[in-house]
Amino acid sequence: MSAAPLLRQVFGFDAFRPGQEEIVDAVAAGRDVLAIMPTGGGKSLCYQLPALMRDGLTVVISPLIALMRDQVRALTEAGVAAAALTSGNSDEENTEVLRALNARELRLLYMAPERLASGATIPMLRRAGVQAIAVDEAHCVSQWGHDFRPDYLRVGELRRALSVPLAAFTATADAETREEIVKRLFDGAQPQIFLRGFDRPNIHLAFQPKDGPRRQILDFAAARRGQSGIVYCGTRAKTETLAGALNEAGLAAVAYHGGMEPDLRREVEARFQREDGLIVVATVAFGMGIDKPDIRWVAHADLPKSIEAYYQEIGRGGRDGAPAETLTLYGPDDIRLRRGQIDEGLAPPERKAADHARLNALLGLAEATACRRVALLGYFGEKAAPCGNCDICDNPPECFDATEAAQKVLSAVLRTGQTYGAGHVIDVLTGTMTDRIRQRGHDRLPTFGCGRDLSKAQWQAVIRQMLGRDLIRPDPERHGGLAITAAAHPVLRGEERITLRRDAMTRARPAVVVRTQVDEEDAPLLSALKAKRRALAEAARVPAYVIFPD
Ligand code: ADP
Ligand code: MG
Ligand code: ZN
Repeated sequence: MSAAPLLRQVFGFDAFRPGQEEIVDAVAAGRDVLAIMPTGGGKSLCYQLPALMRDGLTVVISPLIALMRDQVRALTEAGVAAAALTSGNSDEENTEVLRALNARELRLLYMAPERLASGATIPMLRRAGVQAIAVDEAHCVSQWGHDFRPDYLRVGELRRALSVPLAAFTATADAETREEIVKRLFDGAQPQIFLRGFDRPNIHLAFQPKDGPRRQILDFAAARRGQSGIVYCGTRAKTETLAGALNEAGLAAVAYHGGMEPDLRREVEARFQREDGLIVVATVAFGMGIDKPDIRWVAHADLPKSIEAYYQEIGRGGRDGAPAETLTLYGPDDIRLRRGQIDEGLAPPERKAADHARLNALLGLAEATACRRVALLGYFGEKAAPCGNCDICDNPPECFDATEAAQKVLSAVLRTGQTYGAGHVIDVLTGTMTDRIRQRGHDRLPTFGCGRDLSKAQWQAVIRQMLGRDLIRPDPERHGGLAITAAAHPVLRGEERITLRRDAMTRARPAVVVRTQVDEEDAPLLSALKAKRRALAEAARVPAYVIFPD
């Protein structure tokens, strides 16, 4: 099987992390590889996935029993035949591992380097038909490091005896350690070395809360007329409507999604490759095989699935190293949709928790109050200085202490029983009398009207940012009613302060509004109005809206 479906089906990830894909390709192709990646960058996957792409057994040398056990447990739960031979095993466990090994049932076998000291190990592995060796924490072979494990020196012997490809992984980047690994594990033969920072400094990062999202995308695309770009959408239907809207605005755009005929998809891919200045409006189905170096911009009309997916998708821009721009839109609907997709999925609870955490990381990036690149690279384990090439560095946002506002929201959510959506909570805060407020007696709550100092739109921005920080979450058990999370407790108790962006509290830019009494069915008049709106927007260089009576 190829890498992408395995990534999804076995590991439950929707995208590779930076660097993983190239390493997986090289390891799967049977090359000797030394990969240096920061801690938490996702090295394990780089040997686990290729092990499933080839036939037979991969032996993994790993220094710690606890690490081996964790990985074997996770793999077994994902349905992969994996086992470990460790000194912590019981006799029965060892017997079972040896049986599975002889029956050639295993795909991954973990062992500590000390095992190699026994003369019986290498012949046993040879009989088991080992196809590849992976060495985790490969810096343990270095005598100069403080993790030196003499038995790692036996790995070279293992490689010679089995003459199969070897892939070594470490987070230690210094040149001496690297040289020593090459000398001792590869006998000085040159492996393919992967040591690339994750940063793509030519890509400008920017996020905006959704505020007339179609207009936001149209403006962004129109300002880059003539440049090749991709707009990612959350649904197939939206790719079609948005491509239509771009066409209507006089921009060359085509839709692309997995529901289209393969021939048509290939045609779009070929056109995009060939033509300058075409916009492809696509679902995530677009991109895997795209190798166009001069994609100048990537926009997300909806929030991506995870921070990994975000990185991979924006990473399609500016492969030639020239500046590329990005814009990612997000709103409370995205958060609700993504949380719902996770909660309603069939994944086991731990995987759901991990998916929520990855979504939180992306939302944290969306709501960042300091350099986005520092936050993005930090998530992948890499340190960076403020980049000067993101919307926040361009224009540092004004922030304010929103602890009290957040406490008001939390208490309104709690007092109304954690069963209502943002709209009702805001009605309570702003003291707005509605039928529902009256019926539920929520006008008698002490929080009723405690937030008259902010407008409804401002409360919406506060709630969106709180959703982004995972202080509140839509509860799937209660039809998406807002519930508070464990992270909210310190805020409620006043032990933690919350800082929010003030600019997100008001409309980012002024707008021209054309009010009309026409019926939306009146096509000629409607298109005349739309033309008027465009002319206004162009003349004033601000967005313009046509507002219809409801
Ligand atoms: P390392 O060994 O490089 O320190 P790990 O292999 O332990 O990193 O991975 C760190 C974490 O990243 C794990 O929780 C793993 O599940 C997660 N991870 C790895 N690859 C991906 C991916 N492509 N998408 C999302 N999460 C990933
Ligand atoms: Mg590791
Ligand atoms: Zn920055």
